[in-house]
This record gives sequence, C-alpha cells and structure tokens, in this order.
Amino acid sequence: MTYRVGIIGATGMVGQRLVLLLHSHPWFKVVALGASASSAGQTYKDAVAGRWKMSAPLPSNIAEITVKDALVSAKEIAAAVDFVFCAVDLPAKQTLELEEMYAKLECPVISNNSSSRMTADVPMIIPEINAGHTAVIAAQRKRLGTRRGFIAVKSNCSIQCYVPALHPLKKFGLSRILACTYQAVSGAGKTLESFPEMIDSVIPFIGGEEEKSETEPLKIWGEVENGGIINAKRPSITAQCIRVPVSDGHLAAVFASFDRAPDLYEVVDLWDNFKGEAQKLTLPSAPKQFLRYFREENYPQTRLHRDLENGMAVSIGRLRRDCQYDIKFVSLSHNTLRGAAGGAVLMAELLCAQGWIK
Ligand code: NAP
Repeated sequence: MTYRVGIIGATGMVGQRLVLLLHSHPWFKVVALGASASSAGQTYKDAVAGRWKMSAPLPSNIAEITVKDALVSAKEIAAAVDFVFCAVDLPAKQTLELEEMYAKLECPVISNNSSSRMTADVPMIIPEINAGHTAVIAAQRKRLGTRRGFIAVKSNCSIQCYVPALHPLKKFGLSRILACTYQAVSGAGKTLESFPEMIDSVIPFIGGEEEKSETEPLKIWGEVENGGIINAKRPSITAQCIRVPVSDGHLAAVFASFDRAPDLYEVVDLWDNFKGEAQKLTLPSAPKQFLRYFREENYPQTRLHRDLENGMAVSIGRLRRDCQYDIKFVSLSHNTLRGAAGGAVLMAELLCAQGWIK
C-alpha cells in the first residue's frame, strides 16, 4: 500500500531532511508541501533556492511541487494526503493550533515539534523503546472529537543520543543519570556557515534543552494508564547541553547508577543483542543494529559514526566504571536523522504497521 503524505515546514532544516528521506520511500509518496506565507506559491525548488542545506541534491520528483501556505491551505492539504509530517519554527501555542487543526481535519500529524510532547494522551515515540504508547491515540481521538486524526510526536533530539543506550539497562534498576550533551549546529536549524559565532567556540546554552532532556525520558519510560501516559518516577536525571562546532550529530557523555550495578560485559551484551519493535516488524527505516558498541577507545566520533545505518543507529563507546556513578560511557546519534526526520519517518512506519494510520 502507498500512503500519500504532506510535509508541513518542508523548507526548513528538518523539512529538507524529510524530503530526502521520503522521495524514494517504499511506502510513502510526497504529494503536498506546506510552509509559511513567504514560501507559498513557489515551486519547492524556488522556495529553497539559496537555502538548501543538505549535501545530497534536491530530488527532481519533488522540486516542481508548489509549496502551499500551511495555514490558509490546510483543508486542501489535509484532503490530498493520508497524513502529514510537521516540523515548523513557530511559537508553541501556534504550533499546537496548527497541529490540532490538521488532526481535526482528520489528518494524522507526525510531529517534530515540542508543543504536545508532554500531553498525556499524545504518544511520544521512539519505536524501539515505547511502541505500545500508541495505545493512547484512542483517548486522544475522543478528546479531539476525531475519527482518524491525531497527533503523535517525536522526542527532543538530545535525548535520542543517550536514552536508547540506557533503555536495555533499566532491568538493573536505573536510579540516577547525569548526561552532558555536545550538540551540532543543525539542531538550531543552522549550518557552520550560517552560524559564525560557533567557529572556534562552544556555546554553553541551548534554550529549553536541559529541561527537555531531564523530563522527556520519564515520559518515554512511562506507563499507559486510563488513556494517558503516566511518567516514570525515576531515574533522577540531570543534564547539561552544550552547542559545539559540529555540523550534524549529538554526542553525550553519560554517567549512570543502578539498584544493582551490572558487570560491564552484561551491559555490552545487552547493547549487542538489543532489538526493539522496529526491528521485529522490519520497518523500512529501522536500523538492523540499533545500538552499536565500539571497542576502540577513541570511538564513537561524530563525523565517522553519525551516518551509521543511514543515520538511524546509536553509536556507543568508552564504557567503564566510574568513581561516583556505577558506569560511564559516550553515545552518539544523528540529530536530524534519528533525532528528527528519520525518527519521524520510522514512527510513521510504526503507526501504519500498527493500523493507526490506514
Ligand atoms: P527551520 O529550519 O527554521 O524551519 C522552519 C520551517 O517552519 C520552515 O519550513 C518555515 O517555512 C516553517 N514555518 C515558519 N512559520 C510558519 C508558519 N506560520 N506556517 C507554516 N510553516 C511555517 O527549523 P527546523 O530546524 O527544521 O525545526 C523545525 C521544528 O523541528 C522545530 O520545532 C524544532 O524544534 C524541531 N526539531 C529540529 C531538530 C533539528 O535538529 N533541527 C531536531 C528535532 C526537532 P518558511 O521557509 O516558509 O519560513
């Protein structure tokens, strides 16, 4: 079956990644593109002229699609597609209004934005970790008064570089996490060329990122109860998020403590053998080996490993004991692939496979 899809925010950093991932996707066919009024009415090729940020060329089968105003043409877009991806740079309230408008037009929304992430009946999915959270969609449809429409969100890109590595270790009673993230400039929708303050410098502040890094994992690890997700009570998480002069790829230095400290070989064994729902369902965008542990002492490295398995795998290294926490390690993921557009495409595949999008 082929699903007709739209991309709202198609001209932005995440939108461009979505275009590249979807132009030859086996299940999804891009038929509509939306952005702000300033891009509307132009062909996609003209709308991104001079601001195409990808290293791969713009796909010819999408270049000639006319971009529509995502707000003004919402009805038209919703009627033409089976669902939309949404990645817009708007204040939270306006993003929520835009997404709910599409959902109420009976068009499911696969969102990269943060405005609905902590709403109990909106699933925030990392398909390998909490695929069962999609069950809350039934309650959300009731709240919105929809038959088909709903919103499902992706988590923040920063947590996707370390939460997957910690997930299989929960069985040891994960109690405390300290994560320091080193985040690429593409996370701010920029390139090294368009962010000159980053040359020869690091910036120790990313607005809102530390709060998201400390709270979103608790929803990901939460339980479905009465149509909503109840956040996990633990572990206790503290995070520090730093912008570094790297184009793509968020890397985290992670420290963790447990009720029962695992042996290091147990940890590596769990990483080597981990398979989530995305692998079990053999979804088209699922990496074969989601968690990849490198034994080389100077791995993972952002430039060398961010594209592992099309940017959908998480690279881990430097596992060792710590004098304050039980273990420490370093992990890395591609922030606009696994952390944004690729994670959204994988989530959409999951929702189709589970029958939430028909
Ligand atoms: P971006 O490069 O600034 O792109 C923003 C997009 O939003 C553009 O397509 C823009 O269209 C569109 N837009 C702005 N105002 C609009 C309006 N009124 N109606 C419809 N579309 C409008 O931003 P980005 O980096 O792609 O991020 C987009 C979202 O994804 C944000 O919520 C961000 O937090 C999230 N996210 C980003 C990353 C990342 O690594 N970059 C990772 C995870 C999540 P015009 O071109 O017409 O202005």
